Amino acid sequence: MSHRVTLIPGDGIGPEVTAAARLVADATGVQLDWDVVEAGEAAIQSQGTPLPPEVLDSIRRNRLALKGPITTPIGGGFRSVNVALRQQLDLFASVRPARAIAGEGTRFPETDLVVVREATEGLYSGVEHWVDRDHNAAETVNVITRQASDRIVRFAFELAKREKRRRVTAVHKANIMKTTGALFQTAFREMATRYPEIPADERLVDNMCMQLVKKPEEYDVIVTTNLFGDILSDLCAGLAGGLGVAPGAIYGDSLAVFEPVHGSAPKYAGQDKANPVAEILCVELLLRHLGEREAADRVWRAVWETIAEKKVVTYDLALPGYTDRPVPPSSGSAMAREIARKIPLVDLSKPPPRPTARGSPAPVDPQLET
Ligand code: NAD
Repeated sequence: MSHRVTLIPGDGIGPEVTAAARLVADATGVQLDWDVVEAGEAAIQSQGTPLPPEVLDSIRRNRLALKGPITTPIGGGFRSVNVALRQQLDLFASVRPARAIAGEGTRFPETDLVVVREATEGLYSGVEHWVDRDHNAAETVNVITRQASDRIVRFAFELAKREKRRRVTAVHKANIMKTTGALFQTAFREMATRYPEIPADERLVDNMCMQLVKKPEEYDVIVTTNLFGDILSDLCAGLAGGLGVAPGAIYGDSLAVFEPVHGSAPKYAGQDKANPVAEILCVELLLRHLGEREAADRVWRAVWETIAEKKVVTYDLALPGYTDRPVPPSSGSAMAREIARKIPLVDLSKPPPRPTARGSPAPVDPQLET
């Protein structure tokens, strides 16, 4: 059966990494029929808007998209395409797994976390204005609703239950933000009572940043509001090996868009230097979403084996300062070809590799296999 998927190549390194992801997706043998649409700078050039209506129409029709990163101008100019997509399609749950791969590019080889971020409101609601005519004072409104808070905390507990995860931690700042923070906290506490089998706890966001860089292995599912989730998911990506290996997915009730945590990295655009793994692991998440479990496992293992072998890896996994085992760096397209080459060769009879102490894949409890 063929699955029609909207493909948005995006800006900067987006076209390179989405081409790499397509190559790997095609190597799995799952029939993905790509509906390519332009958003971002290419769409501004051709249609005068970064988010033409056909992009939204395509995602609504296919209910599935693979997206490259899109540049957002700082200050004036167009509003963020990413924020607009989330709000217009009601993509409310941004899920960002941070899994260390073969202990490479990280000081924390056991990192295996998932950040679940509310993606439609909070400080990214777009409700902001200058207070005075001289632009010396400004306000941004932090919109938190009970409905969106209930929906995201329920999503996090359901994810923990489905994936047999150990714990759900809510992150907020309810001590200072006495209304918005407290509303989110209350929603979390009440939802936790409906999942008595899943340990639940809370951290203030500042403490959580410190805890994560000291002992990330103690945490598992983290659920939080929009801005805190944006920041924590980059932090967790860093713990797991950097933005080059951090995939993401964003879910609505019936739609799902898969996009890496990283941005368009304009300084590397067109150089074939960027790591394609984050976008390739978005294909893994997409395949799992489609129920194509074997193909998804093949992608994960081929990525793991390529990084563990370290013969064909991009600069961010190869060079001194990024790794304690430097090797000559390869191009992003060479790394993608190596991953695609391995897809049919991986041995599915072995347990899937999981983050653990450097070097050795963890023995796996079959119960934990996803
Ligand atoms: P960025 O993620 O593009 O880059 C941050 C750093 O990580 C840079 O040093 C970059 O070179 C490196 N990096 C990122 N991806 C990499 C990869 N695949 N391989 C190797 N190194 C990689 O973040 P930024 O510079 O803050 O943002 C650039 C633009 O991207 C901005 O316009 C921003 O708004 C946009 N952005 C878009 C998305 C999205 O579309 N979802 C997400 C974040 C940022």
